[in-house]
Amino acid sequence: MIDYHVHSHHSCDAYSTMASIAEAAHRTGLQGFAFTDHLEWIPEDEATGFLNFEAYFAELRALQAQWNGTLEVLAGIEIGNPHLFSEQVRTALSAWPWDYVLGSTHWADNIPGWLPVAFDDGIEVAYERYFRELLILAREGEFDVMAHFDLVRRDSWAQLQQTLPIEDYAGVVDAVLESVIARGKGLEINTSPLSRGLAEPCPGLNVLRRYRALGGEILVFGSDAHKPERVGQHFEQARLLAKEAGFSHLAHYRERQIVGWEPL
Ligand SMILES: [Zn+2]
Ligand SMILES: [Zn+2]
Repeated sequence: MIDYHVHSHHSCDAYSTMASIAEAAHRTGLQGFAFTDHLEWIPEDEATGFLNFEAYFAELRALQAQWNGTLEVLAGIEIGNPHLFSEQVRTALSAWPWDYVLGSTHWADNIPGWLPVAFDDGIEVAYERYFRELLILAREGEFDVMAHFDLVRRDSWAQLQQTLPIEDYAGVVDAVLESVIARGKGLEINTSPLSRGLAEPCPGLNVLRRYRALGGEILVFGSDAHKPERVGQHFEQARLLAKEAGFSHLAHYRERQIVGWEPL
C-alpha cells in the first residue's frame, strides 16, 4: 500500500526530515508514500510562503535515488483552498514535476476551520460553512484527490468533543461527490481522526458507500502523518472500511496520472 498524505519539515507544522519518514515507511512495510507538504496563499495562514520548492525537490530527489527500487517516494503537495487561487495554483503546478496533488478546505469563508473561532456561531453554522466551501473546491478547484472529505468532523471533535451526523448534510455531500466523480478526481480515506478519538476516518462508511453508489471509483489512503511513527497508521482499518463500502482497488498515481490499480 501507498500512503498518499505525509508531511515533512517542508510543512510549517511538521519537523521530520524526509529521510526519517522514508525509513519509517519502509519499516511499516509500505510500498511507497507521497510527501504532501502544505501550500497555502491565505495571508493569515502560517503555511503561506513557507514551502521552498527548490529545497523540497533537492531533498526529495536525493531520497528517491537512495531508495530506488525499494520504496516509491512520490512528489506530492497539499494545496489549501485551490479554488481561491487558481492563477497561483497553475503556476506552482506547471513549474514543478508533481506526482500527486491533494485539494483541501482548511479555511471556510475566510475562517480557519481548526481554530475555536470556527465554532463561535455554533457547530451547525461551522458545518454548513465548511460544506459550502467544500462544494466550491469540488466544482472549481484544481487537484487530483480531495483531502479529508469531512474535516469539519475532526475539527469539531477537537474543539467541542462533538460531531454532527453526516446524514444531515446528504444534499451537499451528494453534490460534492457528483462533482468529484464527474471531474475524474478521487477521494482519500484520511485515517488521522482514528488517532484523535474518533471512531471513523474522514470520510466514514456512509460517505464512502454513497461515493461508490454514485459511481465513484478513485480511492487512496492517507495517514496525514506529521511524524514518522504515524506513516501508514490505521491502514488495515481503512482497507476493511473500503471493502465494506464496495471498493476492490486503490488508485496508484504518478506524474498526476493514475498508472495502476492495487487490489485491496
Ligand atoms: Zn489538510
Ligand atoms: Zn495534511
